[in-house]
Amino acid sequence: MARVRLEKVVKKYGKVVAVDRVDLDIRDGEFFSLLGPSGCGKTTTLRLIAGLEFPDEGFIYIDDRVVNDVHPKDRDIAMVFQNYALYPHMTVFENIAFPLESRRKALNLSKDEIKKRVLEIAKFLGIEELLDRYPSQLSGGQQQRVALARALVRKPKVWLLDEPLSNLDAKLRVLMRGELKRLQKQLGITTIYVTHDQVEAMGMADRIAVMNKGRVAQVGTPDELYSRPADTFVATFIGSPPMNLIQCTVVEKQPLEYVVPLELEGGVMGSGRVSTSIVLECREGLNIPLDPSLGSKLLGEGESEVYLGVRPEDTLVFKEARSGLGVLKTRVEVVEPLGSETILNIKMGEDLLKIRQPAGLAFQPGEEVYLEFNLRKALLFSRKSGRLLA
Ligand code: ATP
Repeated sequence: MARVRLEKVVKKYGKVVAVDRVDLDIRDGEFFSLLGPSGCGKTTTLRLIAGLEFPDEGFIYIDDRVVNDVHPKDRDIAMVFQNYALYPHMTVFENIAFPLESRRKALNLSKDEIKKRVLEIAKFLGIEELLDRYPSQLSGGQQQRVALARALVRKPKVWLLDEPLSNLDAKLRVLMRGELKRLQKQLGITTIYVTHDQVEAMGMADRIAVMNKGRVAQVGTPDELYSRPADTFVATFIGSPPMNLIQCTVVEKQPLEYVVPLELEGGVMGSGRVSTSIVLECREGLNIPLDPSLGSKLLGEGESEVYLGVRPEDTLVFKEARSGLGVLKTRVEVVEPLGSETILNIKMGEDLLKIRQPAGLAFQPGEEVYLEFNLRKALLFSRKSGRLLA
């Protein structure tokens, strides 16, 4: 087990800054995921930790040792990369056994012990029936599981896994996710897992670093990233459908007294009886009184152009007329019945809102509905910088 740290790490390829001043602190025994869209620098970060690339700037530590100049072989890591290559002249058994055979003396392992470990991991990954085959006789998904078995058969300080389930069919992928997480927790090996699939990262990792354009946008637990995304990039990358971002403007009006209903207290509106002249003016006549201290802070900081961020499940939809704070009369555009739930598409000016509803409620395209946003859970983001304001 080991702690892995990156301090201001930079990696450039010519003019491309693939990794831009990245700081990470991955705890001993943690399942840590690097998550982000294609090209954001996840694989390069993993290759730097593996020692397959060298940083232009910064330091990489495994435990308290700087490993910038340490050869990959001497870092005590095991890895699976996207373009894994199996040894074509070896059987599946020999491929998986290879990392143990090549260190047999150092690891003090008998032939029987090696066989036992190979069988164990092959069974775990559901490939025990393929042990006598050669890689050319396997499907892509089977080859990927052999590559994974070859990495997992060892118990190094760190496992580095780059999209190790990408070639598996959807059903097997879901099964393997759970199994891999169980194995990692059982053995407690520090694991860094690269993926562009937020569901995979959210389901498996203890903590996630969301990367964007070579930088770390936010590090947090799945819950933290979901409920308090640091900026609009994270807000819309995590969650499916993504968070709705509604364009609004903070404006000063005639002072008015509002009574914030109990179910809406807190959040962006404050609590109880609120006297405020600062209002969030959104599309389609949606006006939301802001908590006075929050409102003055936003105006003082020149942050009047904002997005109101509301998760798809944090909006109630009513067929009967309703009025009150945070209520909007509108029409359903498109209905997406997904079996376990229904997603309603609703236009709000240029913004398209996606709203999650329980399955079985019948909505028709064109139908008039009343939306009530849960303002306790709503967030505000700067339209200038994208960062979370409140
Ligand atoms: P993907 O999910 O598509 O694998 P990624 O997030 O892992 O993407 P990286 O492979 O780390 O992204 O690439 C980050 C950036 O660095 C990209 O712009 C990529 O084109 C560039 N890059 C990566 N490797 C090289 C290389 N060897 N030479 C030049 N540019 C590279």
